[in-house]
Amino acid sequence: MMFNGIKKDFPIFDREVNGKRLVYLDSASTSQKPRSVIDAEKAFYERMNANVHRGIHALSQEATAAYEGVREKVRAFIGAREAGEIVFTRGTTESINLVASTWGEQNISEGDEIVVSALEHHSNLVPWQQLCKRKKALLKVIPLLKNGLLNIDALGGLLGPRTKLVALTQMSNAIGTIVPIKKVVQIVRDAGGAAVGAGGGSARIKVLVDGAQSVAHAGFDLSEMPVDFLAFSSHKMLGPTGVGVLYVKREILETMPPYQFGGEMVKEVSQTDAKWNDLPWRFEAGTPNIAGVVGLGAALDYLHKLGFDAILKHDRELAGCAREKLSQFPGLVMYGPEDGGRAELMAGGIVSFNVPGVHPHDVGSILDNEGVAVRTGHHCAQPLMERLGCDATVRVSFYVYNDISDVDAAALALQKVYDIFNV
Ligand code: PMP
Repeated sequence: MMFNGIKKDFPIFDREVNGKRLVYLDSASTSQKPRSVIDAEKAFYERMNANVHRGIHALSQEATAAYEGVREKVRAFIGAREAGEIVFTRGTTESINLVASTWGEQNISEGDEIVVSALEHHSNLVPWQQLCKRKKALLKVIPLLKNGLLNIDALGGLLGPRTKLVALTQMSNAIGTIVPIKKVVQIVRDAGGAAVGAGGGSARIKVLVDGAQSVAHAGFDLSEMPVDFLAFSSHKMLGPTGVGVLYVKREILETMPPYQFGGEMVKEVSQTDAKWNDLPWRFEAGTPNIAGVVGLGAALDYLHKLGFDAILKHDRELAGCAREKLSQFPGLVMYGPEDGGRAELMAGGIVSFNVPGVHPHDVGSILDNEGVAVRTGHHCAQPLMERLGCDATVRVSFYVYNDISDVDAAALALQKVYDIFNV
């Protein structure tokens, strides 16, 4: 298995849970942090701490250079044309809310249509639901196929002259399905929402990608998937909590009204009026999470060293091993892409399942007793759970620091569930 031995880079694995080795299988919720990320944040506070863009003094200049340096790093990471298209937020949730309450408020009117998918996390559903309610607009949903994949062929039929936005997750946090965004962009283009491409002006139908899950495992390449908005979170990709990224194509960002008002987002203020700052600072009111952004920079460095091709392969391989092991448990139901051998290409590092007759929370507690951390519940995707015909699942999710010993430990712990409940 790749990445052998990298657990030692992550201090948390030095501790035990309930007297057992920590087997962390909840990275889709939040990832653990390598020493280099923790050190980068600590070093910022110990050596450089000051506010950004404000001071003439040395520390402020160093802090500003570090903060803006990470913005440039993020630009290069996703292949954006300029750093001015990268806005730092608190996380994916805030990134999406920013788009809904600025671009959405300005561009969605009565009778307009927004398309989401049956896979969405509440973060990429509720903001659009609320916007549609406020504007008397219509929310349409790309349906799910029986095998846990999205029925992308239905997308073309959902697009019409009033469609303004297609907002999709690239990887389901609940069942791991990967959505082919390149194809989505093509379908949107074919439907008349042309010029989605970088540098190609502003199209009628905008595409927003919720990359909270996918970017951590596969990176993102705007030249390959020229979307209009991309949202993702630092904490799911080895970085600190409280930092998110919102990419917005410049032509669109220029037209968007400010999200929050205050310091930093203004250029000039009189008693009765204000002029907005340049991009992207117009969308970063107040003091940002400077140390967190510096930590994200260290996380990107760490991930680049491993390489995203290798990361996705590693996470999928572990998920594949987990699926194989789980399939040996009698009656166990797995959710997510099932399509023979092709499942491997359609799923990330997530496996979602239920044990017959045992509540997922009971499964989760018994696993926790064994030191195995998993997520149980609806995974902030209640409409999806309803479609799958369950209220909740047990979810194991893998990331770079996991290895086959974690799959084995989870299987042993699951055997305890079967023994205790006499399944
Ligand atoms: N979208 C998806 C697909 C997610 O998995 C998550 C996090 N679980 C979010 C959005 C929200 O991200 P955050 O909590 O970092 O804002």
